[in-house]
Amino acid sequence: MRLLSGIQPTGLLHLGNYLGAIKNWVKLQNKYDSLFCIVDYHAITVPYDPKKLPKMILDLTLDYLACGIDPKKSIIFVQSDVPEHTELAWILSTVTSLGDLKRMTQFKDKSKQHAENINAGLFNYPILMAADILLYKAQVVPVGQDQLQHLELAREIARKFNKKFGNVFPEPKPILTKAARIMSLNDPRKKMSKSYGEKSYIALSDSPETIWKKLAPAVTDPARVTIKDPGTPEICNLYHLHQLFSPKKQIDQVADACRNAKFGCLDCKKILWENIVKELKPIQEKRKALAANPEKIKKLLQQGAQEAKKIAQKTISEVKEKMGLKY
Ligand code: SF4
Repeated sequence: MRLLSGIQPTGLLHLGNYLGAIKNWVKLQNKYDSLFCIVDYHAITVPYDPKKLPKMILDLTLDYLACGIDPKKSIIFVQSDVPEHTELAWILSTVTSLGDLKRMTQFKDKSKQHAENINAGLFNYPILMAADILLYKAQVVPVGQDQLQHLELAREIARKFNKKFGNVFPEPKPILTKAARIMSLNDPRKKMSKSYGEKSYIALSDSPETIWKKLAPAVTDPARVTIKDPGTPEICNLYHLHQLFSPKKQIDQVADACRNAKFGCLDCKKILWENIVKELKPIQEKRKALAANPEKIKKLLQQGAQEAKKIAQKTISEVKEKMGLKY
């Protein structure tokens, strides 16, 4: 079974990306024949700085590797290094209905967010995503809830193509990330995101001091005004983070201390801070060591692209054959 997933190189990765995607990929790469892509062609559908993009691509590669994506087990590559992605996207656009694209909620959201730059690439984004997956005939795609609609469209595109030209593509199935949605520190009603400012997220590269600066003012259960006020851990965003970073015994202690006003939120945050720092430390150390040799990282990406191309070219050849594009 083949698996494909990817992240856009848009800057520093945060805990939401780590817990919602990469941590899960590290386990999945042992079970599936995996490809992990740096989807730079998707990143250019919104305003970006061309001078910063090359560094962001290398940074994301470092994050993949530091978190445990292993190039001996998985193919790691950059989307634009394999031109077959855009070639297949064009082909698939001819079997994709305009109505389906217009229904995509992400396009509607991003159009509002970037009202000054609603480009055709943003509209066609789901076709490129379908091409990313179908090019490798991936049977499974780990996705968050917010990408399910795009994956459903990829399945629909595969069905339409197969019906019209003959069976080529398997219909990719989602592997839904089990981790809870990671919410913003300063506004837990929103998903953790860099768009809500520095205090809303913890980056994987944040130092212990920076993490504390972000955790200390983080929003908790508003009922806990003073140390003597009991709270409800289940409604607190930080308690959810405890469940992801703290050992079971400490999670239980935190819940008890919160309900029975045994300690204040700052004590609770201190325990969480220690556990987050402990988990991120080896990742940060590995990342620092890898960053010392950028040429090695570039070489690794080139090798990854070559391996990806072997699969991609085979699929494109089969597609062209079926479509009458070979003479
Ligand atoms: Fe949240 Fe901990 Fe404060 Fe309870 S004690 S409200 S779990 S930060």
